Amino acid sequence: MEKRNLTCIRCPLGCSLVVTIDGDNIDVTGNTCKRGYDYGVKEVTNPTRVVTTTVPVSDGVDLRVSCKTSGDVPKDKMIDVIKDLTEVSINAPVAIGDVIKANVANTGIDIVATKNVSKKKSNLKATEVPKHEYKKAI
Ligand code: SF4
Repeated sequence: MEKRNLTCIRCPLGCSLVVTIDGDNIDVTGNTCKRGYDYGVKEVTNPTRVVTTTVPVSDGVDLRVSCKTSGDVPKDKMIDVIKDLTEVSINAPVAIGDVIKANVANTGIDIVATKNVSKKKSNLKATEVPKHEYKKAI
């Protein structure tokens, strides 16, 4: 029998969990809700995480854009995900939800933008300048 002490990360309450593994039987105590139970079981059978990071933006009003995996990736693949992004950059404009890197680290999960980044005004073509901004951009 093995006991693991974990902190549930499913909400800010951070309940202290004790997960008992006895062969195929897994028991979770200390959880306040079902999400904590599910987290405890998953953490000892198939731990996964959403990875958040930033990547550089070319010609944007910001130098970097925040991004995250579109879903959970296996915990032991997190480093591979970050390594797969080391050479990645994106051209502005960037919109929330844009796919920055598809199938990152062969996980079947995409990296998506979590922030809008506009193009620098000096690099906008006349057709890309919103009408109300046109006089300011030229
Ligand atoms: S067990 Fe439930 S209440 Fe406690 S931290 Fe996890 S999600 Fe929050």
